[in-house]
Amino acid sequence: MGYVLGLRCRECGAEYEQQPTHVCELCFGPLEVAYDYDAIKKNISREKIEAGPRSMWRYADLLPVDGPPSVGKQVGWTPLVKAERLGAKLGLRNLYIKNDAVNHPTLSFKDRVVSVALTRRASSAIPRSPAPPPATANSVAAQAAEAASSAMSSSPVTGAEQGPGAA
Ligand SMILES: [Zn+2]
Repeated sequence: MGYVLGLRCRECGAEYEQQPTHVCELCFGPLEVAYDYDAIKKNISREKIEAGPRSMWRYADLLPVDGPPSVGKQVGWTPLVKAERLGAKLGLRNLYIKNDAVNHPTLSFKDRVVSVALTRRASSAIPRSPAPPPATANSVAAQAAEAASSAMSSSPVTGAEQGPGAA
């Protein structure tokens, strides 16, 4: 993992090694990924990000994953919508809102976190994940289906495995 130092408690600052946990043992505060921002500053540039794929994976160097995505390659690249009336009400001339309601595969912002979590899980020794909350389960199911579909399409099919009507 290139730029991840470990986990850090947002409340008390306690530091932890990378592990599948999200709560501080000392204060029950939320744990966040701690990055090596000096290394990031040396190796990441606007040009490098712009040269990346038209998905959220152009920011892969800033995500807690190793290597390319295992699922959700199409996640992200959602449009910014100018919110003129809300901007005027707030005194802002250029207010834009990210429209993640057109995200893929489930039209939810949760597609982002699920693709990162499943990619992370695929590249680490985490044996299994707890059941996701119902609102997230849709994205997990859709991206798991994508992963299974990718695995199936790369597997050779012999005549014995073809069902009735297979052409
Ligand atoms: Zn803490």
